[in-house]
This record gives sequence, C-alpha cells and structure tokens, in this order.
Amino acid sequence: MSIKLDGKKLSLEIEQKLNNFISSNERIAKRAPGLAVIRIGEDPASGVYVNNKEKACARVGIKSFIFHLQDNVEQKEVEQLINKLNLDKDIDGMLLQLPIPKKFDEQRLISFINPYKDVDGLNEKNMGKLVKNEPAMRSCTPAGIINLLRSQNIAIEGKKIVVIGRSLLVGKPLSLMLLNLNGTVTITHSKTLNLNKICKEADILIAAAGIPNLVDSSFVKDGAVIIDVGIHRLKSSDKDKTRLCGDVLLEDVIPKVFAYTPVPGGVGPMTVTMLLVNTIFSWQKQFGLSSTINDLLP
Ligand code: NAD
Repeated sequence: MSIKLDGKKLSLEIEQKLNNFISSNERIAKRAPGLAVIRIGEDPASGVYVNNKEKACARVGIKSFIFHLQDNVEQKEVEQLINKLNLDKDIDGMLLQLPIPKKFDEQRLISFINPYKDVDGLNEKNMGKLVKNEPAMRSCTPAGIINLLRSQNIAIEGKKIVVIGRSLLVGKPLSLMLLNLNGTVTITHSKTLNLNKICKEADILIAAAGIPNLVDSSFVKDGAVIIDVGIHRLKSSDKDKTRLCGDVLLEDVIPKVFAYTPVPGGVGPMTVTMLLVNTIFSWQKQFGLSSTINDLLP
C-alpha cells in the first residue's frame, strides 16, 4: 500500500508547535508576531487565499493586517505602503498576494519588501541566499514540500529527483532546496524533450507544471515518490459541480508508487503553514528568542 503524504495532518501538527512557541515567548517579546498581507484588485481566488491566511494566523496567535487596495491605485502608492510596512515595528512579515493586475511591476514591488520581512521568500536577497545555501526566509510551497518528505523520513540525499516546472514561485526554488539537501536534481519545463522518459528515472517526481492530469502512470517508476503541486478546479460530470485535481492522474499513479500527495490536502495546506513559520522565524530573530522552529526551514 502506498503512503499518503497528508499535508493537512502535518500542517495541524506544525501549527500546534507554532502555537506553543508563540505562547511561551510572547511574554519576552511583549507582542504577538505580526503579518501584513497586501491584496490588489478583486481576483476571487486571491480573496479566498487571503481569508485562509488570516484564519491560519488567528489559529496560531499571529496578528494579521490585511491591506486590500483597489486596482486603480498607482505602482508608487503600493511601493509607499510597502516602505511604510518595512518600518512598522509591529510587523514581522509581509507578502503581496499574487497574482496582481498586469499593470503593476510585480518583481519591482517584491524587491521593495525588506528581505527580513519577505515571508514569501521571493525577494532577490532571499533567493540569493538560497542559491548560496545560507539560512534565510524560504519560499513557502517548496519549503512545505521538503517538510512533507521529511515527515515520512523520505531520503533526499543521493536520490534522483525530477522537478516538472521552473517557475520562480515553485520549480526553481524547490530544485535549489533539493540540491542543497544533496539530491541529484533534474529541472524540466515546457521545452523539455522526452519528458516522459526523464520522469520515469526519478526516485522522487515533483509535478508543478500547472496542467491538469499531465502525469499518468507511464511517467512513473515503480516505487517512486510523487508530489503533486498543481491545483485545478474542473467541472465534474454533474454539470453544476466542480472538483479539484492536480497535475497528476492520481488514481492511475497510486498503485505504482511508494508515497504520494493527495489533491486537495497535500502540498496546499503546507504552503500556508510555511508562511506562518516564516513570520515566526522573523519575529524570533527580531527578539533574539531561543529558536525551536529553525529545523522547519530547509
Ligand atoms: P507557472 O505557470 O508559473 O509555471 C509552470 C511551469 O511549468 C513553467 O516553468 C513551465 O515551463 C512548466 N511547464 C508548462 N507546461 C509544461 C509541460 N507540458 N511539460 C513540462 N513543463 C511544463 O506555475 P507555478 O506558479 O509554478 O504553479 C504550478 C502549479 O502549481 C499551478 O497549478 C499552481 O496553481 C500550483 N501551485 C500550487 C500551490 C499550492 O500551494 N498547492 C502553490 C503554488 C502553485
């Protein structure tokens, strides 16, 4: 029987640890950790994600500050807000909820975020530290995946790992984290030839292409570990209903693999949890607290 890498269960366990960590250190810090979330425009999915983040913060004792801006604001105004939050002593972490409307220069906004508050780990300073394998804020989805693998003692060192996707958000930082942990990593992308053949050599295969059901059992070696990052809402056969699926055709793949992540309930919950970890990491540094959560940051 294959093992389900249960992100929902693991995220609740980590949240409990974070809650305890905050409770036992709040007296020293004299305030709770603070997370600012900037949302621009009315993208409905972003609304759901921001809500989930706010609820997760409340569960562990992080104070959240939501800034919902209209899409008619100017780039300069968003930059000014980021600068203000950079200086705000009650805020340890800050993120820009993506995607934002196309008229904004997203990368420029991210580079305005103080690297010590960049809880999405997307600022070039934090990316640079990842390249150099130095401790820093790590991007959330990749860091969540590493914790999922570790939770079942799945070895990374020496393993052949294939990552499908090279985005700044997932594929690239994830590949670097796996490389830093001594995996032998192959990065594939939309121009890769013979994707199927390359994937079939992987001990650990990670699908982050954003294409529903791209990976079926013909991509997968017997006994491999498969991590599904993709998340898609598809119409189900009952035409009024929708269902979630990932980049992996799970029912086809599960009988072949050693372990897999479900969609939903795999990588997704871990992404939010790592945001909480990064916020507390920043708070802990700010107040020089004795650290007990650094092991969660790859
Ligand atoms: P993206 O569109 O920025 O990048 C997709 C990557 O896949 C690109 O590098 C592209 O070259 C590659 N690709 C596209 N088609 C391919 C193909 N046929 N073969 C091989 N490679 C191909 O997407 P992203 O932001 O990296 O996200 C990927 C998926 O993960 C999306 O479904 C997204 O919704 C999901 N996601 C989930 C979480 C989570 O928390 N569960 C977080 C981030 C992203």
